[in-house]
Amino acid sequence: MRFAVIAGSQGFRWLEKLQGRADRIGPVATPFGSSAPVYSFVENGIEILLLSRHGERGYEVSAPFVNYRANIWALKELGAERIIAWSGPGAIDRSISVGEIVVPDDVVDETRRRPGTFYEGLGIGFIRQNPVFCPEIAAGLRQAVIRKQGYCRERDVYVCTEGPRLETVAEIRKMALYGGTLVGMTVCPEVFLARELEICYCPVCYVSNYAEGTVDRPYVVGELFEGMLTAEERARVDEAVALLPEIILEAFAGLPKARSCPCGRSMERYRRRGDIGDDWHTWISKSV
Ligand SMILES: [Zn+2]
Repeated sequence: MRFAVIAGSQGFRWLEKLQGRADRIGPVATPFGSSAPVYSFVENGIEILLLSRHGERGYEVSAPFVNYRANIWALKELGAERIIAWSGPGAIDRSISVGEIVVPDDVVDETRRRPGTFYEGLGIGFIRQNPVFCPEIAAGLRQAVIRKQGYCRERDVYVCTEGPRLETVAEIRKMALYGGTLVGMTVCPEVFLARELEICYCPVCYVSNYAEGTVDRPYVVGELFEGMLTAEERARVDEAVALLPEIILEAFAGLPKARSCPCGRSMERYRRRGDIGDDWHTWISKSV
């Protein structure tokens, strides 16, 4: 099983659609605790692992409390070499529309309390992050998005915040100043952890709202995002979410069998130095 999907806050919908066709492998026990439940299914002859980041029935675990290390470890353990992760960020750049599907090009990590490495207490680090997302998967995703949407933006920068709260107007203004175009809560540290275990990783995003302060919306008590999203925008978001499984499956189907990107050998320097051996299970801190 080489392909895996980390599904976002609407991921449980994909699980609902697959009912009966997906095998529930279950949560995987890892040195970092239990992962989210993992499913496997076959689509067009391709075996795919599916992990719903926030839960199986809905939004049960918010972004800061996802066990990112356990999830990435579990997918590695089950044989994943390539991960497509979906996320529903807000748009900082006003040229991006709600409901648009975007493949970001870069990321800024603004998280604060999430363990971000498997190598605590070891002399392992300095892993290059350019390109930060797997270039092979990114190219495949962009082609699939163009087929479904007619076009696909490039060079978007995803800012990952800690959450679970939304951002203030001034925070969004700061992110726009340094080039952020999207703001979400889940790509970090997932992407960095995947690289530490030599797994390809690329996100695909459906834009779920306009970031705070980029549009003038009154505060409406008791509504989703307190009035940040209109009913018409909500409908566009639902359409985009429904398209994601097709886009992801198409991207996987178009990938070459063997990887020629650098992701699969990101730890090579440490291997050559003798710091790590052939069995990746032994790479992490002995104290874990
Ligand atoms: Zn790759």
